[in-house]
Amino acid sequence: MLSVSDAQAIILNLVQPLDRQRDIEVVDLLTADSRILATPVTSPLDFPHWDNSAMDGYAVRYEDVQHSSTEQPAILEIVEEIPAGYQPKSTIQPGQAARIFTGAVIPAGADTVVMQEKTRREENRVFILDAPKPQEFVRHKASFYQAGTQLLPAGIKLNASEIAVLAAAQCPQLSVYRRPRVAIFSTGDELVTVDRPLQPGQIVDSNQYALAALVRQSGAEPLILGIVKDDPVALEKIITHAVAIADIVLSSGGVSVGDYDYVDKIIESLKAKIHIRAVQISPGKPLTVATFLTPNSALYFGLPGNPAAVLVTFWRFVLPAIKKLSGITEGWEPVFLKVRSHDELRSNGKRETYLWGKLHLIDGVYEFHKAGGSHSSGNLINLAQTNALAVLPVGQTVILPQEEVQVLQLSNR
Ligand code: AMP
Ligand code: MG
Repeated sequence: MLSVSDAQAIILNLVQPLDRQRDIEVVDLLTADSRILATPVTSPLDFPHWDNSAMDGYAVRYEDVQHSSTEQPAILEIVEEIPAGYQPKSTIQPGQAARIFTGAVIPAGADTVVMQEKTRREENRVFILDAPKPQEFVRHKASFYQAGTQLLPAGIKLNASEIAVLAAAQCPQLSVYRRPRVAIFSTGDELVTVDRPLQPGQIVDSNQYALAALVRQSGAEPLILGIVKDDPVALEKIITHAVAIADIVLSSGGVSVGDYDYVDKIIESLKAKIHIRAVQISPGKPLTVATFLTPNSALYFGLPGNPAAVLVTFWRFVLPAIKKLSGITEGWEPVFLKVRSHDELRSNGKRETYLWGKLHLIDGVYEFHKAGGSHSSGNLINLAQTNALAVLPVGQTVILPQEEVQVLQLSNR
């Protein structure tokens, strides 16, 4: 059976990122957070825009003050006061200085700022009590960024720090990738929506809600297609529709070996190519991955039906695919941390096993606490408040308390 890492490699290889020309939209900077930049940004502005002071103090000519000391201070005449936001009028001549404040423009003639703590003022004269270094506390024009060079590359996620840079560079609008479209439907005769009274044998379709939340959190747009019966005709219809409207399709259920598990057969009949049928993972073994020859080359994930397996396979396989599709140029794979386990963790050793729980910070070190209750893939109740999954590799049957364990950290918590 296919290993988890081989499955991940196959899936990422199947994903074609959104197109830099076709799949873009323009958004206002105020609504651009968490979007993916589609075009590199350059700015016509230098940073800093002009030589400016890094301190409150006095703008001086270095040669005037280079030998200053408390005993023999240089004494300079103050010819101007320059607050932030003003253009200096004077040119500093030998023996002169300008009072200056942080961020204010360095006047012509001056090349160095002496911080005010190293000075003494007497009316319009300043005594320099300590020799500065040449050019000290001057932030030179263009020393942080040169106009016309690349400010931000394409393919990055716009968080607060990038938004700050773009605002400073006067970019009120940006070209970002459109959100990937992810169609979601659930399969099963036993499923009902949350608002229906349950008849004997029925269960609520929780997967659709979980997947919609996961897709939205990933930055993609969920297209909710509802519940479809274990009926080949209905399934064929919904699959054909889903792959036509979405970049990625997520169905849950119907991919196992039961008599009513039709999804694989229908995908095959629709001339799609099946790349994965099962993965050595627990929970989540029955996992179908296929590509369709639709104009958008839809990628199809037939996820298992078990709610726990849906979450695990989403985090492990679908999220990296959505990230790559979204135009982000790196960091698609899940992040694993090595932490200490608080509890004994067990697996049968046959499949890479994911156990849900919580990371606690104990004296600055993360510790994994396994969720209480059953870890059967049919139980979703103890999934609530999970923020990490402990991973036991194939062949490993136990991790003892206080031993090291790899965990997949779940973001958005
Ligand atoms: P299946 O793979 O279709 O045999 O489903 C495996 C198990 O997951 C069965 O016990 C189903 O009742 C359950 N299941 C399937 N789909 C859903 C769903 N959308 N929401 C909650 N449980 C589901
Ligand atoms: Mg089913």
